[in-house]
Amino acid sequence: MTEETKETKSLHFIEEIVEEDIRNGKNGGAVYTRFPPEPNGYLHLGHAKSICLNFGLADKYGGQTNLRFDDTNPTTEETEYVESIMADVRWLGFEWECLCYASDYFGPLYDFAVKLIGDGLAYVDDSTPEEIAAQKGTPTEPGVENQYRSRSIEENLDLFARMKAREFPDGTRVLRAKVDMASPNMHFRDPVLYRIKHAHHHRTGNAWCIYPMYDFAHGQSDSIEGITHSLCTLEFVPHRPIYEWFIEKLGIFPSRQIEFARFNLSYTVMSKRKLLQLVNEGHVHGWDDPRMPTLSGARRRGYTPEAIRDFCERIGVARRDNLIDIGLLEFCVREHLNKIATRVMAVCDPDPIRVVLTNYPEGQIEQLPTENNAELPDAGMREMPFSGELYIEREDFMEAPPKKFFRLAPGGLVRLKSAYIIRCDEVVKDADGKVTEVRCTYIPESKSGHDTSGLKVQGTLHWVSAAQAVEVEVRNYDRLFSVEDLNDAEGDFKQYLNPESLTITKAFAEPSLLEAEAGQAYQFMRKGYYCLDTDSTTGKPVFNRTVTLKDGWKVPGK
Ligand code: ATP
Ligand code: MG
Repeated sequence: MTEETKETKSLHFIEEIVEEDIRNGKNGGAVYTRFPPEPNGYLHLGHAKSICLNFGLADKYGGQTNLRFDDTNPTTEETEYVESIMADVRWLGFEWECLCYASDYFGPLYDFAVKLIGDGLAYVDDSTPEEIAAQKGTPTEPGVENQYRSRSIEENLDLFARMKAREFPDGTRVLRAKVDMASPNMHFRDPVLYRIKHAHHHRTGNAWCIYPMYDFAHGQSDSIEGITHSLCTLEFVPHRPIYEWFIEKLGIFPSRQIEFARFNLSYTVMSKRKLLQLVNEGHVHGWDDPRMPTLSGARRRGYTPEAIRDFCERIGVARRDNLIDIGLLEFCVREHLNKIATRVMAVCDPDPIRVVLTNYPEGQIEQLPTENNAELPDAGMREMPFSGELYIEREDFMEAPPKKFFRLAPGGLVRLKSAYIIRCDEVVKDADGKVTEVRCTYIPESKSGHDTSGLKVQGTLHWVSAAQAVEVEVRNYDRLFSVEDLNDAEGDFKQYLNPESLTITKAFAEPSLLEAEAGQAYQFMRKGYYCLDTDSTTGKPVFNRTVTLKDGWKVPGK
């Protein structure tokens, strides 16, 4: 984006709120955000949107962002996820101010609960979960106040201390806020603050057997950290009144909750729970399978952080749930890879056409200089071996071509990229009539960079020298699901998996790809963008097709 468009671009609604708070001098004009993942899975592109939004806002307004693990649920969190989340945030290009864990606040949160009890604003309830649910009422009928609601402050303080002291088994008692059992907002009907769970926690071990619920942990963690703008997705709109109630009753830092729409991408799912099912049931080969919408999958596939950040910027911040075309993501990836990818040649047909140059000196091999990336002056040159026996794509030859076929055909001329112009003289077929070889003459004075032939040709083909070509495995990826909007699809989402989301083929690559580097993007000319996969072994490279060269996605306004 140019500076000019950046300046004139209108603010999104969260920026408007933040700017208004700054104008009003709220919190001394500070902007402090946080990204609060629950460490129960790998991050996906939906999280990338939230990361770019939170870190981006703080960057823009001179503020700071914390990475906070929302690890209040002892049974699902794992250290493996914590590590991967940190690696993914950094890979996206962001660095947090403080690394925080909600579990670090178990002490202060307990004290907040004791304060509420002392102020007559919380009570210990001995009802079963079923009774509590039944007493809650429905959105159209008020709930019922039970006998525990009128317990004395002393009894509540004593029972809560004994809950903490491991005196009671799981599920026998909870601590609830005393708010309003008749409120039209169900979250106001005496929400549960603490439950008993004798479970090992990944950080606090067995120190606690009572754990705070989301509503009691999240907002208070924001306040403890001095978060000014707490961004979350729309499903938390009904939680906002209780978020504000705790701030008011506890007299703590007034963090402000702002909700935005969850982002969904077409042809995939964006939920850790569903992604975990795909992994556990073997529909994909792990969290970093290149078909997965996880950041680790995107990275392995060859998507770049720059492209993902650009994508998150382009999709903007919505107030209503929306489905973004996966084509826009691919467009952003292509646009970035076009700038950085090393251009190489690989014939991607496992059954290519052999081109024999009948006038090329027998046994001769030339090393032809070729540019690594004409768009990048510093990218340098490399040499490609050229000989009298080459491979080209089968689709680049036609025996009886239609008009405007500018590739190779009997009697026709084409240029071989970075090499020579050739003319097709003869077609050799096997017993079934299949073309096995084309015999051509090359024009020695048409060498690229030194062309004195005066010939004008329309088509330029990529090629490899048959003897030096390296056979490589290529993994081609297609959409993971075959329906566009999985939120609308009925039944089990896994029935919509695209059986052709992965196809493995063979390609004949120029020999330089034996030394391909992990993390480097390659453009297989005329084919697409590729990267070396982690399954590669010495002498046996495996390439992921990151994205094809073209598709039908049209940039709005272009
Ligand atoms: P999931 O349903 O995949 O588990 P989650 O919202 O439960 O997602 P968290 O780990 O709680 O995952 O999310 C961390 C942050 O990322 C939250 O602030 C959440 O709102 C945000 N987030 C998660 N998914 C999306 C999404 N699809 N679009 C935008 N933000 C998201
Ligand atoms: Mg969650």
